[in-house]
Amino acid sequence: DLGHPGFGLDDLPLRDDLRGQAPYGAPQLTVRAVLNTNENPYPPSQRLAEAIGRAVAEAATGINRYPDRDAVALRQALADYLGHGLDAANVWAANGSNEVLQQILQAFGGPGRTAVGFEPSYSMHPIIARGTATRWVSVPRTARFEVDVDDAVVAVKEHQPAVVFLTSPNNPTGTALPLETVEAVAAASPGVVVVDEAYAEFRREGTPSALTLLPDHPNVIVSRTMSKAFALAGARLGYLAAHPAVVDALQLVRLPYHLSAVTQAVARTALEYADELLGAVDALRAERDALVEWLRAHGFEVADSDANFVLFGRFPDRSAVFADLLERGVLIREVGPPEWLRVTVGTPEEMAVFRDALLAATGRA
Ligand code: PMP
Repeated sequence: DLGHPGFGLDDLPLRDDLRGQAPYGAPQLTVRAVLNTNENPYPPSQRLAEAIGRAVAEAATGINRYPDRDAVALRQALADYLGHGLDAANVWAANGSNEVLQQILQAFGGPGRTAVGFEPSYSMHPIIARGTATRWVSVPRTARFEVDVDDAVVAVKEHQPAVVFLTSPNNPTGTALPLETVEAVAAASPGVVVVDEAYAEFRREGTPSALTLLPDHPNVIVSRTMSKAFALAGARLGYLAAHPAVVDALQLVRLPYHLSAVTQAVARTALEYADELLGAVDALRAERDALVEWLRAHGFEVADSDANFVLFGRFPDRSAVFADLLERGVLIREVGPPEWLRVTVGTPEEMAVFRDALLAATGRA
């Protein structure tokens, strides 16, 4: 208490709208199988780890100076990776896509403005809305976790949101959106439509990215991250693709030099190893499909997944199943609709541990 016993949060001049609220907090535990935050289970190869080390050493020789404030070389490399005719002017990067999303709400949301999301979805969207004092309106997804186009258009017309969040593939359900849904929402929206594609690289064959909509839809923003497919969660690098005017708008709220020289160097190096990293993504997609099949074969209900995680159920007491798994060294996530649990796709070894633990925890062993 630093000598001030009895002094707490309630004694601080905290904003009224933050009183009594809970912070984001997925447990960080050291157990046999950590399958709770949709990370990539594969650490960088020795070759890539060494290349990152060299890039950081190189950045260190000039670390007395501020980094490139506009991160131009990194944005160009990200644009090259995305393709679709994009270049650096279409791309913006920040410390994780969470920061990208926060900058979007700082620029386009705020007091007196509304953001709409289709839930269950990523829990940080309403938390970032709260932090930026943007009103949050939640529209329910269908029983199959899809976004009903008519419901979506009605909600947009009613609430006139400055920002709409469409997550595809959706976290925690794994559901990808048809492009027609994004187009219909973009056409009805008075503001910007953020398609959060954090898990884009894990989509199954035939599910397109909203990147294809950018040329004809200047109010669409596609958000991506290097935390998942690029196995770079610890480096914190998220980015977006949009009309250059959107990038101009974000310059008004970004902090100067927000992306460190080290972060820029690490991310650029990882992009040079895209082929290697995306090879591991193929293995994860196959592991995901096998997991879905296995769960269904054992009588579980499973949401179709285009991501590196699977939502499965149903459990009248999901907390009991979660706790039992944890006792067996398997950490998954109690998130999403009641009766469902989410598991991140790990290595084959981790998934074997998960399968055994789940059979034991649910009396199927
Ligand atoms: N969007 C979605 C849908 C996510 O699930 C996550 C991470 N769990 C993020 C954004 C943020 O990831 P990061 O800040 O690491 O880019």
